[in-house]
Amino acid sequence: MSETNWPELESQLYLRTFKRVPVTLVRGRGVRVWDDKGTEYLDMVGGWAVDTLGHCHPVLVEAIERQARTLIHTSNQFYTVPQLELAEILIQNSCMDRVFFGNSGAEATEGAVKLARRYGRVHLNGAYEVITVGNSFHGRTLAMTAATAQPKFQEPYLPMPLGFVNVEWDDVEAIKAGTSDKTCAVMLEPIQGEAGVRIPHESYLREVREWCDEKGILLILDEIQTGVARTGTLFAYEQYGVEPDIMALAKGLASGVPIGAVLAKESASAFSPGDHGGTFGGNPLACAAGYAVMKYVVENDLAAHVKQAGAHFLKQLDEVVADFPLAKETRGRGLLIALELHEDIAPDVVLRCLQHGLLINGVKPNTLRFMPPLITSNDEIDEAIDILRTVLSSY
Ligand SMILES: *Cc1c(COP(=O)(O)O)cnc(C)c1O
Repeated sequence: MSETNWPELESQLYLRTFKRVPVTLVRGRGVRVWDDKGTEYLDMVGGWAVDTLGHCHPVLVEAIERQARTLIHTSNQFYTVPQLELAEILIQNSCMDRVFFGNSGAEATEGAVKLARRYGRVHLNGAYEVITVGNSFHGRTLAMTAATAQPKFQEPYLPMPLGFVNVEWDDVEAIKAGTSDKTCAVMLEPIQGEAGVRIPHESYLREVREWCDEKGILLILDEIQTGVARTGTLFAYEQYGVEPDIMALAKGLASGVPIGAVLAKESASAFSPGDHGGTFGGNPLACAAGYAVMKYVVENDLAAHVKQAGAHFLKQLDEVVADFPLAKETRGRGLLIALELHEDIAPDVVLRCLQHGLLINGVKPNTLRFMPPLITSNDEIDEAIDILRTVLSSY
């Protein structure tokens, strides 16, 4: 199709931020993508847990086309219809009462923390500290880098913004020990995606919820990766018998159109007009896309499909673990799944899978992650497993 050497051009033009896999994708349909040479790939990365409906789903394409012809952007100086349609479907299908839209995950978690600080100012004698846990990931803004309890993200940018207390993961006693009269909230991912799909012990979120209630502080759940049916329920909190006070969404919400959302219970909705805002957030184009996605997910009970498909995927992967000494263990819920290996060869496995027409993610040096579109079928999962087996046999 094209003679341009895109990786070469990237190395000249782009800031040195991403370690990319050597393939240039130009087109997608469903769970398949094609590169600039016309080679087809089965996509188990799914836009990094973003492409909820797969690539170029007709329902999403139609919604974007229609809205693009109608009204792309005005401003938050005015009321707009798609913003309120998306707000309504989110509120009707979650435990939340109010929503604010931004453009990314980091903006959503950052907005969640700002809301918690307003709550602390108004209700908790100015408490402002937010407790976060080890190996978390909350985004790349400076404040969310401070929230993200991983030294490798923080050290290049010291000094960090104040007001975050990083404690041990999966340990409610550590959260208790980190709590003081300055604490306004605890912020957690129900399942840690970027840490390699780490699932806390079954009663963890409930214990943290109880502690937050006892202290009168807020529980913020970062469901940016786990939300919108990714783990087999519309939101992951549903599986743990807890409700957050504030929730951040992004990734899968508009299946690839940039969007983020802060949702809050009425009791935590401490913003006053002027406290927070944004130029692009909640614009008609992004919200029409988000509304089309949410409507599709809810009306087709995609969460039920994800639960079934995820169980199928995990079962196949468990058999891989049984058959290959190199494979150590599986972890996952729904279509957010990891396969940990005994050796640090994940980057090489990713490359060999690429050569066999399969896109996967090496989330850690020894861990592969699968986060395909939520419409992925069992046949497509079996196809991915076959390629993975071929690749693992080559070591
Ligand atoms: C991806 C992610 C973020 C950051 O989202 P961006 O859109 O990259 O800013 C924050 N939290 C979690 C749990 C994520 O998975």
